[in-house]
This record gives sequence, structure tokens and C-alpha cells, in this order.
Amino acid sequence: MKFDNIIIGGGLSGLTCGIKLAEQGKKCAIVSSGQSAIHFFSGSFDLLGKVNGEEVTNPLESMKFLPQQHPYQRVGLENIERLTDEALHLLIRAGLSFTGKADRNHYTLTPMGVMKPTWLTLNDFTSFDQKDSFPWKKAVILNFSGFLDFHTLFIKDGLKKFDINAQIKNVSMKQFEAIRKNPSEMRSTNIAKEFDKGNAIEEFAQKANLLSEGFDVVILPAVFGLFNKSVADQLKEKINKPVLLLPAIPPSVPGIRSQITLRERFQELGGTYLLGDNVEEGIFEDGRLLEIRTNNHGDIKFEADQFILASGSFYSKGIVATHDKLYEPIFGLDIDGDNNREEWFDEKFFNDQAFMRYGVKTDENFRALMNGEPVQNLFVAGSVLGGANPLKEGSGAGISLLTSLHAAEQILK
Ligand SMILES: Cc1cc2nc3c(=O)[nH]c(=O)nc-3n(C[C@H](O)[C@H](O)[C@H](O)COP(=O)(O)OP(=O)(O)OC[C@H]3O[C@@H](n4cnc5c(N)ncnc54)[C@H](O)[C@@H]3O)c2cc1C
Repeated sequence: MKFDNIIIGGGLSGLTCGIKLAEQGKKCAIVSSGQSAIHFFSGSFDLLGKVNGEEVTNPLESMKFLPQQHPYQRVGLENIERLTDEALHLLIRAGLSFTGKADRNHYTLTPMGVMKPTWLTLNDFTSFDQKDSFPWKKAVILNFSGFLDFHTLFIKDGLKKFDINAQIKNVSMKQFEAIRKNPSEMRSTNIAKEFDKGNAIEEFAQKANLLSEGFDVVILPAVFGLFNKSVADQLKEKINKPVLLLPAIPPSVPGIRSQITLRERFQELGGTYLLGDNVEEGIFEDGRLLEIRTNNHGDIKFEADQFILASGSFYSKGIVATHDKLYEPIFGLDIDGDNNREEWFDEKFFNDQAFMRYGVKTDENFRALMNGEPVQNLFVAGSVLGGANPLKEGSGAGISLLTSLHAAEQILK
């Protein structure tokens, strides 16, 4: 099979790159082995939350304090503002809607009851301008009876910092009796599927209205609208208090919905999305990648003019660490990381962990290096790139979005 571009990995970076290339008329395929980090999505895309341990107000301004090997510096700070704008519009065209600006972080309340700076927050969730005040006095936290993935006590504890003495109440409904019988079935996606059918919305809203009498705000787990985008809006309309949705333990319902929305956009643009297929090897000639082979397609070749590696970090096995080795498992590309295992991690869990910065080495145009030489038509994007600690910096989605748009620009030049 022959394409203009083939993207390895169907997470946020692979999909963003694929949508941009397909919007420009390229014949693209995405091959993706499985779930991506978006399935664990908090509801917000981070751009830059912290630099050198200091909280960031204006990410565009603070990027200049990042080290030279950071992906934002390598994309070029002069390109970042334009790319943030482009990323937002690409996501909006795909059907996602957000609050947020690249030149000023806003805050979202985490499931630990802490305000966290971020860039774009899905409209399901509430964004706050201030981190040290909570706009309501009396909060009720409503959970589904038997749902163990929403940590109400952490939220209640977190809210004490804002002088809020929240109350926790449970809602029981007939619709959930069947899935409640088996605790492993009482998961966010199964609750969401019941609401998607439409018949739980009215009853839940009535119960929420009764249980929230005397309170100013209703806090709920974000388990609404897996396939039916309008569920959260319908509930917000029917519940007669402000509703604050907070992430539950993954799988993330808004995350899966976002992934589906982006995948559908890619396919509507004519893209081919091969899910559940693993890219296993590539055939190279004269410094170019000619074709890839996948697990499901055996001897069938996938050829393209350009390839993009967007296979994620350790979590998605885009790079792998064994007891004594760090490697990129598909092509054996060069890795920017330490060979000495002792240097990989700090025993103090919350310290900056060196391995978080490891990734595939590239040249200045984001082309992968193999044995020190760039592969002319293999670009690298997203969290498989090294040079950043997205967890400490709060930069995960920003790096994925901006580096994949940048890689697409190199291809479209
Ligand atoms: C658990 C988790 C939660 C996160 N939550 C957030 C958040 O809420 N907000 C935020 O800003 N950032 C978050 N991040 C940071 C995150 O890294 C980025 O936001 C971003 O989603 C990463 O996208 P990606 O496409 O680079 O990689 P991934 O999402 O990891 O996607 C890589 C894809 O490549 C596929 N793949 C790997 N190897 C192969 C192969 N050989 N063949 C075919 N396919 C392959 C994988 O199956 C996967 O689908 C989170 C990260 C993790 C790990």
C-alpha cells in the first residue's frame, strides 16, 4: 500500500500531524497499536505550567527560560505562538471546544482538590482565573453508589484549603444496579454508556437537585458523554446549581471522546486509521525509510514518501528500558539518554527523574538519527522526543501538539 505519509502512533501527536497533513490534501495513514495517553486525559491540555520549579503565568513568555534542548526551543520560540493558535483551530475544526489562551494560564481543580495551571480546558470542565480562591461557599460532592474510582475524600480535603466544608453524598439509581453487581464493571465508561442512552439523565438531575438543596455548587465525576457529546450539557441545564466536573480514575471519558473525535476528523478527511496494528520494522535504503511492516499485515508493505514516528514515550512503548538497556523498539533509532542505569532515576520519587527527558535523537529538522545520521524522510513528534519533563513542567499536550504541527510543516515545505 502506498501513501504520501504514514504516521506511527495514533495518540494526540499522531492524530494532530495526520489531520494537518490530510487537511493539506495528503494521502495519509496512521498505524496505531493501542490506547494512547489521551485515554488518561485530565480534561486539560498543558502548555507550560512550571519552569525551574516556579509556576508560570504566561507560557509564551516563560519558554525562553527553558534549556536549549527543550522541544519548544528546538521548534523555535518565534514559531510557538503561531503554532499554539494553529493547534487550537485544528482542534476546534475537529469538533472539540475549549477555554484557554496560550499567553495566560488558567487553573483547573484536580481530583486532589488542588488548582493546577493549564492552557486549554475542555468545555465539560470548569476553568478558574485565580488559583487561591474557590467561587462557591457550600459544595456537595455527589458520587454514584458503588463507584470506587472517584476519590471524594481527597476532594473534600483539598477544598478545606479554600475554607470549604464540602459534604459527600451518594446517588443510587436503578440503571446502575446491573453493573454494580460486579465492582470491576462499575467503571467510568460503563456509567457513561448508561447516560449515553439518554434514560438516566432526567432521574439523575432530579436526584442531584434534591441532594444539593442548600448548597452553592454540585461536584460530580466526569463520566458523562462517551459517544453522546451532549450529555454533560443536558445535565448542566437540568441541575439547578453550577456543576463542577472533576476527573475520575482512568479510563477518562472526556479523553476517549476526544480521541474518537480526532480520529473521526482524520477519517473524514480521507485518512486511513489502522487500529490494533503494531509497526514492527522498517526497510531502509540510502538513508531513507522505504517501507514499514506491521504485525497484522505480514508481508504487505506500507510505503510512503515521508514517515512520522509518534509512538509515545515509555508508557506507550515508544521507547523501552530493560534492566541494562534503553532503546527505540521499531527501528533501533539513536536515543538521547544515559547508558548507565544508575543515572536513569532518583530514588526520591518526587524528584526530577532523568528518564523523563529521554527520547529519540533528532537533527534540527526533527528527522530521526540512526547511527548518528539523519534518516531523510523519518520525522519524530510528540512524547517520543526527549528533552523535557512534561510531568514536572506541565507541558505534555503542548509538546505533542506543537512538535507534530512543526513536523508536518517540515513535510509540507
Ligand atoms: C497517563 C498519562 C496521562 C497524561 N495526561 C495528560 C493530560 O491530562 N494533559 C496533558 O497536557 N498531558 C498529559 N500527558 C502527557 C502526554 O504525554 C501528552 O499529553 C500526549 O497525549 C502524548 O501524546 P503522544 O501522541 O506523543 O503519545 P501517546 O499518547 O503515548 O501515543 C502513542 C501511540 O503510539 C502507539 N504506538 C507505540 N508503538 C507503536 C508501534 N510499534 N506501532 C504502532 N503504534 C505504536 C501507541 O499505541 C499509542 O497509541 C499524559 C501522559 C500520560 C502518560
